[in-house]
Amino acid sequence: GDSVFDNVPRPPDIPLYAMIAAYNEDPSPIKLNLGIGVYRTEDGKPVLLNVVRRVEQLLANDISSNKEYLPITGMPEFNKLTAKLILGVDSPAINENRVATVQCLSGSGSVRIGAEFLAKHYHQRMVYISQPTYGNHPNFLIAAGLEMKTYRYYHPTKHELDFQGMLEDIGSATSGAIVLLQTSGHNPTGVDPTLQQWEQIRQLIRTKGLLPFFDCAYQGFVSGNLDMDAESVRIFVADGGECLAAQSYSKNMGLYGERIGALNIVCKTADVASRVESQLKLIIRPMYSNPPMHGASIVAAILKDREMFNEWIIELKEMSNRITCMRCQLFDALCDRGTPGDWSHITRQVGMFTFSGLNEAQVSFMAKEYHIYMPPDGRINMAGLSENSVPHLADAIHTAVTRV
Ligand code: PLP
Repeated sequence: GDSVFDNVPRPPDIPLYAMIAAYNEDPSPIKLNLGIGVYRTEDGKPVLLNVVRRVEQLLANDISSNKEYLPITGMPEFNKLTAKLILGVDSPAINENRVATVQCLSGSGSVRIGAEFLAKHYHQRMVYISQPTYGNHPNFLIAAGLEMKTYRYYHPTKHELDFQGMLEDIGSATSGAIVLLQTSGHNPTGVDPTLQQWEQIRQLIRTKGLLPFFDCAYQGFVSGNLDMDAESVRIFVADGGECLAAQSYSKNMGLYGERIGALNIVCKTADVASRVESQLKLIIRPMYSNPPMHGASIVAAILKDREMFNEWIIELKEMSNRITCMRCQLFDALCDRGTPGDWSHITRQVGMFTFSGLNEAQVSFMAKEYHIYMPPDGRINMAGLSENSVPHLADAIHTAVTRV
């Protein structure tokens, strides 16, 4: 060859992408993609919230608007509103100006900027992540030059939180280590600590002087209640200690492609927070200069207007209710079929995903014989199901666990 890039090696396939490619190539009319983490309506269509459509029309008609650059840290109004959404309207940390908030490229960009900041300005490089966790988490941390260890999180046979294991592993963490936590709707397991368990986790983390880093990708999507889904972060902020919290509006506002989210760094004092914010600017500017405007305009418009906000809540609850409904329907369908095993975790788990417990062989059997696609770890996107497709999935699971 004569390309100057002839020596560029082909990287190994990303497992999730291989699954998506197989799905796309499958000509079957009954094929079902339960792999990717996006919400679908009962008709299997992508969702655009009515409130988002309405805001976009208002924005398009607003002759006073323009497309000039945002500041490096994003839209100031969005930043104020987004911090209040996660930390609460009366958060003392916000009132005392102890929170540095920067608009970032959704949850991914927020975790990545947080990781970059920690790599540059925190004394400890070790991050503890749950076993398992969102597949991109290790990538963000490694790319920032941080190091990783895992803490036990999921009990694979009981299909629930391995709380003792979690406490033991976090309890034996290196002093000052960072602990990455998912606020609610844990991806991929659908298993969250209870509020009492969060309180124990908090005491342990504070006693040991560890630094909590929350990833909040599903606020409101889990319980239908924005405050409840953020309670874990709030108890950590209420004790006056420091933490990081990344936010995403991909799922809860259906703004996936707008890449809108934020990183909040809660500090001890306003002076520290302002220095932290200045350093965040130095990280962001050489990377992409400043963030995009459109998603921030949408979120700010919804968060600041009571009537829009209420419309959003109704649509958010609809999405989270539909997922809960799918859980019940799938569980009932497996009971009806007398499928061997205990499937109660389908209704006990929360958020978008069911960690089914299906093994890799069963997952590939279901793809081949039933045209149902999911990642090898058996994670099912409940939002990809509908009343029509539940029986098909139940048949597939039943055959897979009896035959494979
Ligand atoms: N964090 C968690 C736990 C997620 O599940 C996801 C998406 O699935 C993300 C972050 C990143 O999503 P986004 O960058 O679209 O906010």
